[in-house]
Amino acid sequence: MPSYTAPMRDIQFVLHELLKVEDALKEIPAHAELDADTLNSVLEEGARFAAEVIQPLNQSGDEEGCTYVGDGVVHAPKGFKEAYAQYVEGGWPALSCDTEYGGQGLPHFVNNAFYEMLNSANQAWTMYPGLTHGAYEALHAHGTPQQKQLYLPKLTSGEWTGTMCLTEPHCGSDLGILKAKAEPVGDGSYLISGTKIFISSGEHDLAENIIHLVLARLPGAPEGTKGISLFIVPKFLPDASGKPGERNPVKCGSIEHKMGIHGNATCVINLDGAKGWLVGEENRGLNAMFVMMNGARLGVGMQSLGLAEVALQNSLIYAKDRVQFRAAKGPVNRDKPADPIIVHADVRRMLFTQKAYVEAGRAFSYWLALNIDKELSHPDEAVRKESADLVALLTPIVKAFVSDNTFECTNHALQCFGGHGFIKEWGMEQFVRDARINLIYEGTNAIQSLDLLARKVLADGGAKLKKFGKLIQAFVVENQGHAGMQEFLEPLMDIGDKVNKLTGEIGPKAQQNQEEVTAAAVPYLRVVGHLVYSYFWAQMARIALDNQGDDFYKAKLATARFYFAKLLPETAGYIRQARAGSEVVMGLPAELF
Ligand SMILES: Cc1cc2nc3c(=O)[nH]c(=O)nc-3n(C[C@H](O)[C@H](O)[C@H](O)COP(=O)(O)OP(=O)(O)OC[C@H]3O[C@@H](n4cnc5c(N)ncnc54)[C@H](O)[C@@H]3O)c2cc1C
Repeated sequence: MPSYTAPMRDIQFVLHELLKVEDALKEIPAHAELDADTLNSVLEEGARFAAEVIQPLNQSGDEEGCTYVGDGVVHAPKGFKEAYAQYVEGGWPALSCDTEYGGQGLPHFVNNAFYEMLNSANQAWTMYPGLTHGAYEALHAHGTPQQKQLYLPKLTSGEWTGTMCLTEPHCGSDLGILKAKAEPVGDGSYLISGTKIFISSGEHDLAENIIHLVLARLPGAPEGTKGISLFIVPKFLPDASGKPGERNPVKCGSIEHKMGIHGNATCVINLDGAKGWLVGEENRGLNAMFVMMNGARLGVGMQSLGLAEVALQNSLIYAKDRVQFRAAKGPVNRDKPADPIIVHADVRRMLFTQKAYVEAGRAFSYWLALNIDKELSHPDEAVRKESADLVALLTPIVKAFVSDNTFECTNHALQCFGGHGFIKEWGMEQFVRDARINLIYEGTNAIQSLDLLARKVLADGGAKLKKFGKLIQAFVVENQGHAGMQEFLEPLMDIGDKVNKLTGEIGPKAQQNQEEVTAAAVPYLRVVGHLVYSYFWAQMARIALDNQGDDFYKAKLATARFYFAKLLPETAGYIRQARAGSEVVMGLPAELF
């Protein structure tokens, strides 16, 4: 059975040495008093909860899965309900929620760090509270004062959970063709009808009520995405005091039997004239839902980071224990018949690849979450705008690049176990299966790459990308004379130049032919992802160079060197692919495939 210990040393390195969060928070009045000790003790307690309460349910939850009992009733695997009760009792759902609604008002990045640990422990379980927090954020941003008063305290406490209901049988990536209907009743409420599929945490026995956020069309709404509205549809209709009452006809028809995340109920949700209330403006539902979707995209990044971390931990333990052959330079462990497999170059390649992606992923995603705190709460409007632009630009990277890397990482982790990796009881194949969904939901990684290239980069003439470039330039200028840094600054500047050149080439071609964008988008995202990771690895290398005597920093420096020598070079191939143009992909008529 796999084990998990939260990587507190590395989490603290990112928070305090890399991001210097205590200083950053001093500029945000709401968090100015928060000190490092408080942050550390919250996360240490969170680490204990994740490892002791949630992780032991991971393998059993995968084996048992969810059960559709009949008549819309679904049971989560054994132990999930009790663990959720402990989560609520511990006040964990409230961590970064608004104090006005019973939250603890801690910064978003604290919640994110906590979610990394929960996801390492058990991704399927973590999706129940994860979607609830997303629903909380959408309602917090777009709900009416009455809606906020009624729903936010219950979502904050975790007494009620939330879902996001977008997907329909015929409509996944292309929400413009969704069909669910909302008829106004005349008293401010609506009757919603339609079928939603693949709804995560859509039905379960963990909480007394479920609040569905549902996309549907009003009568006469314009076609496409401009005619979609967002509705709150509770499972049980609450009275004004928040007591759940009448059962609303929003029911689970069945649950999916799927490749991974078996402990999370993926539901068909039938709405048969279910009562709902509009959130935000008519026909502007996607705008409101994007709050939840963007949060969920960062959430997928945290799911992926968490999975890669736990897979790395277990493959490392195994690689130090399992003995096969002697080391190429001669025996290192003469007391045993063979040396541990960590002496072999290819096993080290697989371990280093995981380590390099995990540690850069953590640095990047925590930094992004800190930028969300600045975007939402910094007193200076210019800082808020700067952070909002960076978050918008890099959200597709945290979703797609981190999840793509994690799929690679979990496969490496499994491979380190050889044949035992393929055997269920070791738990490694579960990590691979669970990781696979992260490339698909919340907008497939192909859709993320289109979002990055078309909407985030080309649509504003590269303005947001230039903002990120300025951070890199400033770092390079600041560190140019620093002993040992040239080794890291050169490849960082080089990949920066290459991204600028590539973007400059695609832009004009796209004006002639949009297929030049769609054909280049996926390799383009990988190249920009590496620009981001190069920036964070160069920063981490700088800290390590300043602290060379200590083993933790020795490993950091070695991992930085591995990243630049072995992983970054894949960008050469992706740049060639992005440059290859659209004809090579689009030239062949579909009937000739
Ligand atoms: C386990 C699970 C949980 C989920 N949870 C939720 C949930 O909670 N709420 C919810 O609303 N949905 C949920 N989903 C749905 C999920 O978000 C969709 O499956 C996903 O967005 C893809 O939609 P689709 O399956 O219809 O695929 P399609 O949109 O049909 O796509 C099929 C393929 O075509 C590609 N493609 C489509 N259009 C383009 C394009 N323009 N350019 C390039 N490639 C393209 C896609 O990348 C994909 O590879 C979940 C799905 C699963 C499997």
